[in-house]
Amino acid sequence: MSFDPLQAWRLDEEPYYAPQAEELAAFEAAHALRLPVLLKGPTGCGKTRFVEHMAWRLNKPLVTVACHDDLSASDLVGRWLLDAQGTRWQDGPLTQAARYGALCYLDEVVEARADTTVVLHPLTDARRILPLTSCNELLHAHPDFQLVVSYNPGYQGMHKTLKPSTRQRFVGLEFSYPGAGQEAAIVAHEGLVDASLARQLVAVAEQTRRLKEHGLTEGASTRMLIHAASLTRHGLSPRVACLQAITCPLSDDPDLATALAAAVDASF
Ligand code: ADP
Repeated sequence: MSFDPLQAWRLDEEPYYAPQAEELAAFEAAHALRLPVLLKGPTGCGKTRFVEHMAWRLNKPLVTVACHDDLSASDLVGRWLLDAQGTRWQDGPLTQAARYGALCYLDEVVEARADTTVVLHPLTDARRILPLTSCNELLHAHPDFQLVVSYNPGYQGMHKTLKPSTRQRFVGLEFSYPGAGQEAAIVAHEGLVDASLARQLVAVAEQTRRLKEHGLTEGASTRMLIHAASLTRHGLSPRVACLQAITCPLSDDPDLATALAAAVDASF
């Protein structure tokens, strides 16, 4: 059997994903053209799960990098390492994906340091190259390589944002929280709870999302609802589970915390 350097990034099982609209076909079209894809949407609404599902559907390995404000170009591209045999070059995750032909998903790309755009630009236009200046190599991306990035426009202004010269290289797919019925089905499936509890949790989320007009940065995500649902399976009452999984993490502001607790009390 031949060596598969991306074996660790292959998905064995289909990741459960409930489509919101035409995003499966839209992604497949972008993938056919190997166009870089930008996923926009609030945190915890299913972007990562969508990419995992698409990688499985397309039968492609998936290299995921969670970006943070200390992530530099060399974290993505690679670096020289010193070991007992001397120095050796180690490809970073982006280089591995480009070299061997994987989907590379940069989650919350705006968080990464500005120097990362220098390496993304030649990879995301017709050149599809990655200059590895430190080891004197000009890597031509594998034909199967595709870049996918996500970002949350809700944080725009508070944090950094994507420059037009970067974002104009991508095709965009917009995500938001699923409709109530579908979100309840997702919460029931992922949190392993019955449909009626899932619907009540979604009702709490809808109330919290309305508080955005009152200063809340972001309402409860689908992820938070799944956490609350899962806690109830471990013996917490739905109310306590919501306070723990939703109210407490969402805000430190006492007035907003009171409003969030009222949203929970309205459902339970
Ligand atoms: P994001 O990447 O947008 O921050 P995730 O993809 O990690 O969010 O979603 C958080 C969780 O919510 C997932 O782990 C999954 O359990 C669930 N989820 C959200 N949307 C969907 C969906 N459309 N289909 C299936 N699961 C979903």
